[in-house]
Amino acid sequence: MGARFLGMEEAAGSTPASSTNCFTKKGGTADKIRPLAGRIFIFTRGGKEMPNYNPEIIEKKWQKIWQGDNFIQTEVDQGKDKYYVLEMFPYPSGKLHMGHMRVYSIGDVLARFLRMNGYNVIHPMGWDAFGLPAENAAIEHGVNPALWTEQNIELMKKQFNLLGASYDWRREVNASSPDYYRWSQWLFLHLYNNGLAYKKKANVNWCVDCHTVLANEQVEKGLCWRCSSVVQSRELDQWFLKITDYADRLLNDLSMLENWPERVKVMQKNWIGRSEGAEISFAIKDFPAEELKTFTTRPDTLFGVTYMALAPEHPLVPKLVEGTDREKDVLEFISRVKQESEIERTSDEVPKKGVLTGRFAINPVNGEEIPIMVGDYVLMAYGTGAVMGVPAHDQRDFLFARQYNLPITIVVQPEGQSLVENTMDEAYTGEGTMVNSGQFNGLQSSQGIEKITSYLESKGLGRAGISYRLRDWLISRQRYWGAPIPIVYCEQCGIVPVPEKDLPVKLPLDVELSGKRVPGLSHYSSFIETSCPQCAGKARRETDTMDTFICSSWYYLRYTSPGFQDGPFSQEAANYWMPVDQYIGGIEHAVLHLLYARFMTKVLYDAKLVQFKEPFTRLLAQGMVYKDGAKMSKSKGNVITPDEIIKKYGADTSRLFILFAAPPEKDLDWSDQGVEGCYRFLRRVWRLIEECSAQYSGSAGNIPGDNFSERELALRRSTHAAIKKVTHDIRERFNFNTAISAIMELVNAVYAYRQSSEDCKQKRFVLDEALVNIVLLIAPFAPHVAEEAWQLLGGKESVHRQSWPQYNPDLLVEDLVEVVVQINGKIRGRLIVSTECSEEELIKAVYKDQRIAELLTAVQVVKVVTVPGKLVNIVTKSN
Ligand SMILES: [Zn+2]
Ligand SMILES: [Zn+2]
Repeated sequence: MGARFLGMEEAAGSTPASSTNCFTKKGGTADKIRPLAGRIFIFTRGGKEMPNYNPEIIEKKWQKIWQGDNFIQTEVDQGKDKYYVLEMFPYPSGKLHMGHMRVYSIGDVLARFLRMNGYNVIHPMGWDAFGLPAENAAIEHGVNPALWTEQNIELMKKQFNLLGASYDWRREVNASSPDYYRWSQWLFLHLYNNGLAYKKKANVNWCVDCHTVLANEQVEKGLCWRCSSVVQSRELDQWFLKITDYADRLLNDLSMLENWPERVKVMQKNWIGRSEGAEISFAIKDFPAEELKTFTTRPDTLFGVTYMALAPEHPLVPKLVEGTDREKDVLEFISRVKQESEIERTSDEVPKKGVLTGRFAINPVNGEEIPIMVGDYVLMAYGTGAVMGVPAHDQRDFLFARQYNLPITIVVQPEGQSLVENTMDEAYTGEGTMVNSGQFNGLQSSQGIEKITSYLESKGLGRAGISYRLRDWLISRQRYWGAPIPIVYCEQCGIVPVPEKDLPVKLPLDVELSGKRVPGLSHYSSFIETSCPQCAGKARRETDTMDTFICSSWYYLRYTSPGFQDGPFSQEAANYWMPVDQYIGGIEHAVLHLLYARFMTKVLYDAKLVQFKEPFTRLLAQGMVYKDGAKMSKSKGNVITPDEIIKKYGADTSRLFILFAAPPEKDLDWSDQGVEGCYRFLRRVWRLIEECSAQYSGSAGNIPGDNFSERELALRRSTHAAIKKVTHDIRERFNFNTAISAIMELVNAVYAYRQSSEDCKQKRFVLDEALVNIVLLIAPFAPHVAEEAWQLLGGKESVHRQSWPQYNPDLLVEDLVEVVVQINGKIRGRLIVSTECSEEELIKAVYKDQRIAELLTAVQVVKVVTVPGKLVNIVTKSN
């Protein structure tokens, strides 16, 4: 038996069993494999001709069969645990790129793994189809954006299919279809009716060439991110959503998201930007009826205020200068600033500009008169539009004061130093002892914050307050390809929401493509003219469309009941499937999309439409795909497309490589050699199954007797060790790369076992156990070849319907290692742990040790250094 196998292996021209790990082998040109190039080896098995591993044939075959299969089509089943695997839906560009292939491969592995683990898995896909790219393509190609989008969706669905992605296409959503945007509009009305959508005049970033508002994130160094034109500031009537009402909850609930990457949570936290401090009122000399409200996080520096800066848009400014000799200068300054974008005004690289108003404010703690200026760096939209200038203790104020020769007064002295105003190079922003601060002199500045705040409170001049960096979400876009905002303006009734029964407000599809842009909705008189839903009088429609981030703020809910007609989603379905258990997408969405989706979920929670407060329980932000150390880009000529790689090697190899080359959250460097290594590995698996399948006993997993030789036992151990490792690495850590390595090792072990000439009684059963498990373990990664192999082994049902294998702990010998535990370099204990213990698990074990825990009670841990398998050193400082 053994001899026969060996003979076939030689016939296939295999590499020796000892060099199977595809990455230990330096692949020169001699190793180059040209798959699918007509080199089909024929084996005979029971008189039937068997082809060599041919992904093109296998993959086509199974993709067709899976389409008609329902193991991926799942329904609500209260008796079964659900699992929602979701990858961020793409813009339908028509071209799947490597970044896509990476994120969708990760999602598909998880979906397939979890199905085999008995979960009722929902794994949907759809299209973030509204937005600028379709408009630009429409102009470039002279195609209607709707048609362009539709064509691209068809193309991309084909590409997803070629990848072997197991999506439940019955749940597909397209954000640009009236069936979907009807409910985006419905959500807008819900927000409007609950006081969470409002219209106001606002200064916005405006790109003349793109003819639209740009978000701050879309302005790079004062230029439009897309066309590089200079961005202007414009005052427009705009729709906003009151996300600021949810600032506290968006911040506090981050603590519920234990399985989100820390860096994403930090970015959200910074974006929300909560700061504690004091709201302080300054009186204005000669204007007894007015006051200037300001917010500061440093009330302890109040005695150091030497000027007041107002935003150019501050409503008091014209009044302060009216009829004075400063009026002309100040108004000119304001109109100049209005040309600048917010980014430019607040950038640290551009010097700040200001102008004196000739008026004075009164410092509430010492009665000092301080000049009131108008400063371009003060924004009306943040805080109160007035900033107290403390040059000695704020760097921006320091630069501004030096530029305009404003006085600098030190009120906090650092420990053991005495700063002098004239010789300061920069502001001192740290803590210290309060000086020049009247009755507060000698206090620590940290105490001064509280003391001065309560002093102001007692005098009615201020109070403790909280300020946020987060601003309301501007959703108006002056572009065509988006969901129309369902509002009507009536000459009699004013702003009137479109009644729910009249939704959707449909986008006109008779686009006139002319010139450089698709005209916005204000161009379509047939769209604009309408009648008022309240008085039936003459009215016109809102012509702004919604930010596409609205579409993506709730799509994950629509997937749970895509055809639902009585609301945006069925509550029953949403409450069963939601929240998303695992969300996967790029780090570029760390703030906006993820924040907006969290906001929308909370709004729906308040409306009792959903029972959960957070939409995404776990989040994985996958890394980038590089080639030769650089991002793949057309200009660098280093782009590899999924299409060409799938065509050359097949989807299984492509998926395997992309998952093997790096852990999902790390960047991945593309390597042709690596791809070929993965192809070689799959060919080895294929050959193994193929050669062994004829003798397959059909009894794997049910091994008779316990009388094993050493060799047999060794193979059984390898099999069960692989099951344990692959399961652990997928489930706990998403370390697909190490999981795949474990399968490769098992394949090596099988080849080595087969070469043994030792006569083993149980040989066949032990071998079968290994083979069956190789196929099961590889199924999530390389679903097509696993399916074909499963069939060769006599499997009746799909391999993807099988239960995930369980390991037998009795067969595993755990490798243990002693780790030294130090505190500040001194040995304080020793721990015996598994060699497979991760850094995180190791640190947990150290903290659990009673003796160590006692030593750490009265100190603060500054940092923990680990040398895997050897040492943990905890660095502490006294409390
Ligand atoms: Zn532009
Ligand atoms: Zn009316």
